[in-house]
Amino acid sequence: MRVRVAVLRRETWWMGLSVAAGMLGLFALGFDQGQLLSPVLGDVSYQLNVLHELVHDARHAAAFPCH
Ligand SMILES: [Zn+2]
Repeated sequence: MRVRVAVLRRETWWMGLSVAAGMLGLFALGFDQGQLLSPVLGDVSYQLNVLHELVHDARHAAAFPCH
């Protein structure tokens, strides 16, 4: 029984990690305007908007509003 609980906890951990990665990917695809890279690049991240430009066509294909 104790091993079974440990397996459930591991699965729960992976499920939570997968949901978090999916939400991060959804944010990067649909909503990022420089926020994700701003801790690394600072204000330059908002000016260059690298992630937005990288996923720009996919953003339009997924029907997220852009410009
Ligand atoms: Zn656009």
